[in-house]
Amino acid sequence: MAEKQKAFQKCINLDCGSEFACTEEFFKCPKCSELLDIQYDWDQIKTPAKLSDFAKRWATKNQRLDFSGVWRFRELLDFCPDEFKVSIGEGQTLLQRNDSLAEFIGMKPGCLHLQYEGLNPSGSFKDNGMTAAFSHAKMVGAKSCACASTGNTSAAVALYAHLCQMKCTVFIGSGRIAFGKLSQAMDYGAKTIQILGDFDDCMKQVQAVCTELKLYLLNSLNPFRLEGQKTIMYRILEGLNWEVPDWIVVPGGNLGNSSAFGKAFAELKQLGLIDRIPRLAIINATGADTLTELVNKRNLKWNGGRVDNKIINDFYAELTAKKFSPHTCASAIEISRPVNLKKCLRALDVCNGVVRAVTDEAITDAKALVGKFGLGCEPASAASLAGLEVLLAEKIIKPTEKVACILTGHCLKDPNVTVNYHKEKTSKYSNPPVECPNDLKEIIKLMS
Ligand SMILES: *Cc1c(COP(=O)(O)O)cnc(C)c1O
Ligand SMILES: [Zn+2]
Repeated sequence: MAEKQKAFQKCINLDCGSEFACTEEFFKCPKCSELLDIQYDWDQIKTPAKLSDFAKRWATKNQRLDFSGVWRFRELLDFCPDEFKVSIGEGQTLLQRNDSLAEFIGMKPGCLHLQYEGLNPSGSFKDNGMTAAFSHAKMVGAKSCACASTGNTSAAVALYAHLCQMKCTVFIGSGRIAFGKLSQAMDYGAKTIQILGDFDDCMKQVQAVCTELKLYLLNSLNPFRLEGQKTIMYRILEGLNWEVPDWIVVPGGNLGNSSAFGKAFAELKQLGLIDRIPRLAIINATGADTLTELVNKRNLKWNGGRVDNKIINDFYAELTAKKFSPHTCASAIEISRPVNLKKCLRALDVCNGVVRAVTDEAITDAKALVGKFGLGCEPASAASLAGLEVLLAEKIIKPTEKVACILTGHCLKDPNVTVNYHKEKTSKYSNPPVECPNDLKEIIKLMS
């Protein structure tokens, strides 16, 4: 590149570091196959003097981009001209201060907050990423797109593809998707292909299909998606009156979110818009705990950008040798080869992060608590609360620290897990319906 551009793509591999214009469309570095990052020449971007300046846009929310909870922060993801930006009002989400749940798990009032991303148009945080990636897709003139999905990506892609009048194919693992999510992909008109395999199989196939047929890929490999997902952190700061919390707790699947969060905070710090960076806790399910294994047991680190690939390759070879397929009721994080692993290591480094894995039982119990005390969420989202409980017990998170748990998806995404949990009185917080004869006296007896 002759002249330094305002925004550009850069390979995260230090030994490669190739740069490309944002008008190019790759999903991996064409030179070394590593992940690409979006970087900015901040001198060319007019960012606000302080974060609270963004709040002025609430007053002009009748303007399309100011209404979006993503594009309201557009100077912090300035990679395409406004004319290409697509929006369906994503990011109108809520940071709920939850004192009753805080008390229940032994935290002080004002310390626990739940960021409910289920309020997005397609019911999960994925819309934050899709609005950004589809804007890029429009900028490069893409006509046809695809993704592999555990469910929510397919729902979000299908919704935005229709908005952009793009053809759309979603790949899902056979029998591995929650009903609410599958119903959305079909309802929004995506061509849905069920592959006999798990998510990791789908991920591999979709990359091959996209290369072969030149389709635009919308998995979180796509660095533009992660730019949109940074805004979840901006909205948490906004919800806390621009105060930085002590901890962000997030479920970890393909590790796009955690990667985006680390990047968001690193940039805000670099720009002098925050004075400190919160710590990050990433929570796996025990049935899909690659990150936990690699970081906590095999000591995998970002290492200034020189990640020890041998540790990763050896572990994946072991998974292959034992024909391992991940299993958890939290289908959105049922992933054993997370594509954003390396960016996530960088986020852990930036945020002095920790990683834990929680059982399905802990996840469904935590989900019941979010339902009872909060706005409800899908199983994967509740891993954040289950992880918080573990970290409180370990005294790594203190009851007086300010914590934001990300509730990544809506409670109606996966009604099967909810109904199975409650229908009999077998779990810790089961709340089964009571059967009763069609008789007023009997009904009144039951009401006491
Ligand atoms: C996609 C998804 C996740 C996993 O997020 P990653 O960014 O892939 O780690 C967690 N919860 C829900 C509800 C999701 O849809
Ligand atoms: Zn490269």
